[in-house]
Amino acid sequence: MVKQLKCPTCKKVTTWENNPFRPFCCERCKLIDLGKWADGSYQVPGEPVSTHDLNPEDFPELLN
Ligand SMILES: [Zn+2]
Repeated sequence: MVKQLKCPTCKKVTTWENNPFRPFCCERCKLIDLGKWADGSYQVPGEPVSTHDLNPEDFPELLN
């Protein structure tokens, strides 16, 4: 059975074997993905920081 994976860039199903660009389907997708990392398009997953959810009582110095 040939191991298959989805290209992270174009979501096309490609194969792991005989694929020098894995996990991408082709050199183009690999370069596109590297470019995203380089220009900061990818965000680090995690809790979004929102100042709207802060409780003023937790910051008494701000009430003076
Ligand atoms: Zn691709």
